Amino acid sequence: MRLVLLGPPGAGKGTQAKELAQQWQIVHISTGDLFRYHLAHDTPLGQSAKEYMQSGRLVPDNITEAMLKDRIERPDVLESYGFVLDGFPRTVPQGRALKALLEERQERLDRVILIQVPTEVLLERLVGRRTCSLCRANYHVRYHPPKVEGICDRCGGALLQREDDQLDTVNVRLKVYHQETEPLVAFYEEAGILARVDGNQEPAVVTEATIRAAEGGPHD
Ligand code: ADP
Ligand code: ADP
Ligand code: ZN
Repeated sequence: MRLVLLGPPGAGKGTQAKELAQQWQIVHISTGDLFRYHLAHDTPLGQSAKEYMQSGRLVPDNITEAMLKDRIERPDVLESYGFVLDGFPRTVPQGRALKALLEERQERLDRVILIQVPTEVLLERLVGRRTCSLCRANYHVRYHPPKVEGICDRCGGALLQREDDQLDTVNVRLKVYHQETEPLVAFYEEAGILARVDGNQEPAVVTEATIRAAEGGPHD
């Protein structure tokens, strides 16, 4: 299964991608997580991505595409049953680059799932999002609180708020989504592989709907 999860910040891409990766034994690839790893380790890639991420803008396509290419060509991906992309592509040129990359190995995407959520819900989700500083598990102060405030249920790590989840940066990210990422909806609709899922439901219900949409195959 080769899937892309498309949707605005806060739609639940990360939450759903983790479930799908488990369900199908496929690799979860999050470009946001990859960039945050490079930022935390202060690598040259992290340094070039830093100011974009902090201000809520997209990292330039050439940098992002090179990072994705490197990740998707690693043995764990090549040897697995597929992947779920979370946060890539985010521009039409990135969509074209992905297509070319897959064509080189005689592969193609099975499905692109657009997770739809009203803007006011996105805002609430993003400002309440917390992430484990050790295992990267996701929480929400209201919708998915940890048993002990500020502490990860799974590993005891400290829960932190992402710097770019402050309200003013969130607003920039939503605007960037509409301007730069939304054109991908038409791009994948034309390719005949887009499916829409209502993301404003319980996480488990969204997972079921996503699985159904993905298993509908490419020509549904
Ligand atoms: P979200 O939870 O808002 O969907 P991500 O964790 O996927 O956010 O991404 C965080 C930030 O990382 C983005 O605001 C952007 O700066 C950068 N980023 C992630 N993926 C991409 C991409 N495909 N192209 C450009 N920038 C990206
Ligand atoms: P994205 O990767 O699209 O930015 P996340 O999966 O990180 O989104 O989800 C954003 C926030 O919303 C997180 O705090 C997460 O726990 C919460 N969340 C995700 N899916 C749902 C849902 N279906 N209902 C309520 N809250 C959700
Ligand atoms: Zn943890």
